[in-house]
Amino acid sequence: MKATNLYAPTLRESPAEAEVISHKLMLRAGLIRKAAGGVYSYLPLGWRTIRKIQQIIREEMDAAGGQEIAMPIIQPSELWKESGRWEVYGDEMMRMKDRHGREFCLGPTHEEMITALVRDEVRSYKQLPLMLYQMANKYRDEIRPRFGLMRSREFIMKDLYSFDRDEEGMNVSYQKMYDAYAKIFTRCGLEFRPVEADNGAIGGGHSHEFTVLAQSGESSIAYCGGCDYAASDEKAELKVIVEAPEDALPLEKVETPDAHTIELVKDYLQVPIEKTIKAVAFQDDDERLILAFVRGDHEVNEVKILNAVEGALHLHMAEESAIVAAGGCPGFMSPIGLKPGTVVLVDSTVMEMHNAVAGANEKDFHYKNVNPKRDFKDVIVTDLRMVKEGDPCPRCGAPLKMTRGIEAGQVFTLGTKYSQSLGATFLDENGKEKPLVMGCYGIGVGRTMAAAIEQNNDEHGIIWPRAIAPFELVVVPVNAKNGEQLSYAERVYEELKAAGVDVLLDDRTERAGVKFKDCDLIGYPLRITIGPKALEENVIEVKVRKTGEVLSFTKESYLREVRELLKKL
Ligand code: ATP
Ligand code: MG
Repeated sequence: MKATNLYAPTLRESPAEAEVISHKLMLRAGLIRKAAGGVYSYLPLGWRTIRKIQQIIREEMDAAGGQEIAMPIIQPSELWKESGRWEVYGDEMMRMKDRHGREFCLGPTHEEMITALVRDEVRSYKQLPLMLYQMANKYRDEIRPRFGLMRSREFIMKDLYSFDRDEEGMNVSYQKMYDAYAKIFTRCGLEFRPVEADNGAIGGGHSHEFTVLAQSGESSIAYCGGCDYAASDEKAELKVIVEAPEDALPLEKVETPDAHTIELVKDYLQVPIEKTIKAVAFQDDDERLILAFVRGDHEVNEVKILNAVEGALHLHMAEESAIVAAGGCPGFMSPIGLKPGTVVLVDSTVMEMHNAVAGANEKDFHYKNVNPKRDFKDVIVTDLRMVKEGDPCPRCGAPLKMTRGIEAGQVFTLGTKYSQSLGATFLDENGKEKPLVMGCYGIGVGRTMAAAIEQNNDEHGIIWPRAIAPFELVVVPVNAKNGEQLSYAERVYEELKAAGVDVLLDDRTERAGVKFKDCDLIGYPLRITIGPKALEENVIEVKVRKTGEVLSFTKESYLREVRELLKKL
């Protein structure tokens, strides 16, 4: 490909709307353009990278036994009503009606569609296991579409679904996908970690997220320096902290004027924060009040709350009126003396506290000497808190570290959740009818591209890992108006092309400085410069984008050297 035939409009400044580096650089380097909030067009350079990522994914999905199919983006509401997700999916689902008033959605995911696809034809255990996948646009009306391709409303996802005869088979499929994902992100040249993850609304067994490490990422992950435990902050299990034993003193109600925050209470009563219990009050979609209690210095984990309360799907902060109606008093809460029937969750660590301070459910009053095991009645005790740096690893006890990343892929076991609701069954060896046992596995193709940029950039632009660069190498004649230089560069370009290198010839008659800036911005891993030195001294200069190194080779040696260099990038 020659740059004079390439549509790659670069921008000097990044558009004001772009907040994160990948978004800025994708716009500036001419990879994407915005069509609407969270909806983008891909320009030739961006699309080349997308296709390279897709190709790597395809190869690994096929190698693991997957078969590629294509399913419709438009999905009838009936399927979603069968699974029960038409209502629960909420505003994220883009819904529409046809001219007859029939309801459809633009697929945010395809569990229903694929289960319906196989339910009529997969009849026997002999047809299992089965793995089907597609690479298609997904639609989610995200509350806050932002960060370019990282969180968009239309995005490309590879989604594979596995069908097995039993749980054992499902776990084998899951492991195959887990291994394939590790290969995919390794081949893409990314630094990543598979982390234990929450299953979210999708339901069923266990899950891992494949997180590309980057400080700008929206995901926070906890990992252990001592063993290989790693989990998303939402999922990270926490050990119960057991306080040294103390004799339980009698409960005492004390006045704490205006001390409506944990900071004010601890200062007023002169107790360490570890001796206080704090409350967070939520309501779910049905306006049911849910009260969660953790130690004063801990934070509540909303995902753990949702998992602990049957039927709760989303949480919002509680209205004061709801708290008062349950016998509580905002700023002065405790589980003691609430109306029966109130949903009260207490973190396991709180239950091990002695002679602690908690609210008295009365304005300007707290209790001292709260002993949860003695004083709390009708509460649900569970792990409720958010992990923080230094918490002990649930596996080996070493202190956990926190880091940030971008969830580029996620694998889930689904069990029979969808096959049961949609009636997808098969006959086993004994002629017994059983539901298919499923798993689902997604990779965000555009998000992977964005994550690669977040992880690999500098002040000049993108630094592509070779495997997913729009071109592996660019040949730049310093002065393309000089016929000799241009034809030398063309010969080098042809030679590289013949050797199988994915090469671009920047034959534009722009000033050298402009072309070099564009090369750095777009981030080709290698740049070969053809100038007077090449013609007069037989020196072919190769610049490595990642390190900034400039290496000199001869016309005779450069091809071999370039191949070696590319292998390492
Ligand atoms: P998130 O928690 O970031 O909203 P998710 O867990 O809902 O994502 P999945 O349903 O697991 O996403 O989808 C599989 C993959 O699709 C994700 O790992 C991610 O790479 C990609 N993806 C999901 N939502 C978006 C989006 N709005 N824009 C771009 N990619 C997305
Ligand atoms: Mg996910």
